[in-house]
Amino acid sequence: MATIQPKKTPIAEQTAELRRVNFNEVCLGYTEEEAVAEAKRCLFCKRPPCVPGCPVEIDIPGFIKCIAERDFLGAIKKLKEKNNLPGICGRVCPQETQCEGPCTLSKKYEPVNIGKLERFAADWEMQNFPQVQAESASKNGKGKKIAVVGSGPAGLTAAADLARMGHNVSLFEALHEPGGVLIYGIPEFRLPKAVLRREVEYVQKLGVDIHTSNIIGVTLSIDDLIGRGFKAIFIGTGAGLPYFLNIPGENLNGVYSANEFLTRVNLMRAYQFPKYGTPIRKGKKVAVIGAGNTAMDAARISLRLGAEEVTIVYRRSFTEMPARIEEIHHAEEEGIQFKLLTAPLAILGNNDGWVVGMRCQQMELGEPDSSGRRRPVPIAGAEFEIEIDTMINAVGQGPNPLLPRYTPGLKVDKYGRIIVDPATFQTTIPYIYAGGDIATGEGTVIAAMGNAKVAARSIDTYLK
Ligand code: FAD
Ligand code: SF4
Repeated sequence: MATIQPKKTPIAEQTAELRRVNFNEVCLGYTEEEAVAEAKRCLFCKRPPCVPGCPVEIDIPGFIKCIAERDFLGAIKKLKEKNNLPGICGRVCPQETQCEGPCTLSKKYEPVNIGKLERFAADWEMQNFPQVQAESASKNGKGKKIAVVGSGPAGLTAAADLARMGHNVSLFEALHEPGGVLIYGIPEFRLPKAVLRREVEYVQKLGVDIHTSNIIGVTLSIDDLIGRGFKAIFIGTGAGLPYFLNIPGENLNGVYSANEFLTRVNLMRAYQFPKYGTPIRKGKKVAVIGAGNTAMDAARISLRLGAEEVTIVYRRSFTEMPARIEEIHHAEEEGIQFKLLTAPLAILGNNDGWVVGMRCQQMELGEPDSSGRRRPVPIAGAEFEIEIDTMINAVGQGPNPLLPRYTPGLKVDKYGRIIVDPATFQTTIPYIYAGGDIATGEGTVIAAMGNAKVAARSIDTYLK
């Protein structure tokens, strides 16, 4: 047996100096030779622990074996048996806590680079088959009319799976472009729009009709959809409602919610203002509050917009940061500063109403809280001020309240999440199912896709 390379095959990236001034993708992906070398590190375990680590149950050793044998088309076909969005997942999934975490190799060495191999297969198909190929399921007359609301990873997955089952699926999206967080939240340098648009086109080719600029609950109600002949509805409207800090100064000019900041830049192309109509403040000293993926994205965008100093302000320590390890690592390399164990107390403004600083509280870590993470506790008297001209609040987002508000009988919990049966994702209205962040609260792309898949199967069973 050949000796196993203990470390993952290195992958090319733009250098930190170069990429901090452009919006191009940071990671450049594997070449064919590198992908084959990495695939050959896999042990092709008989009972592979990586598979249960994947919420959409990809046959991981199966697709990796194809790559090892240079059957790249076979690899992408195997991936698409379970995953309609491989180019996206290969880029943004937190593999370290999903499939790569339990990989057998990781007991002794670095795990197989499953995510980057998935990305390789998707990119290989994109380069070698520029026309999107998909076989739409035969509509044998048994298919039912199903509406999907929201076009994030949950909505796209539910819609694609239901179309594959032979149903007639219409997907309604409030924004003018489909993708959910994938289009308005995650920046180009992590997920190129071309990759997203190609995978959305794949879902359309499977037979899904996408209707953008349709706010269900406002432009059309659930009753309207039923009146138009839809027999079941899947809701995947996400967690797009920003949480606020509720501290003085949050209404000052130059203070953004991450949601607004990211939407302006990613969806409305504010970085090309005035060519595009949406402006954005290009701060010189930017503070971003929070340490999840949203915070890392906002910080790294600020840098690319020309900020001289960008600081992540987080009330816990490095160990508790919820962002993907790769994003934290890239942010550090690019020169983002980290002010840890620090909580904002007030945002300070000048007489013209613009932000000029922030008063902060030094914290220390106490006992673990209900999330298992050590609770940050203020150190008495340890307050200080920092100078800033822009503040971006990325402390989290809650479920989008719009649709439940206008749909009598659709019950939500105290956090505003639509209540579902965890085994089927059926809501309190029998013909309505819900999945992704609207049902679980802020989560991950792959978790949203995982429960959308279960919901799609349940809808199919319900309709039979
Ligand atoms: P969303 O992606 O939020 O999509 C919901 C869609 O529904 C939106 O398009 C919205 O416009 C639409 N909608 C809402 N209300 C209506 C209505 N009434 N009618 C019609 N349409 C409606 N996860 C990862 O795994 N990896 C990452 O790297 C990562 N980075 C992230 C970065 C940012 C900035 C953010 C905000 C999140 C990130 N996440 C990441 C989390 C991940 O993106 C979400 O968990 C995931 O997108 C949830 O999918 P969803 O389909 O439930 O909702
Ligand atoms: Fe390969 Fe690791 Fe999965 Fe085993 S657990 S099949 S080594 S990727």
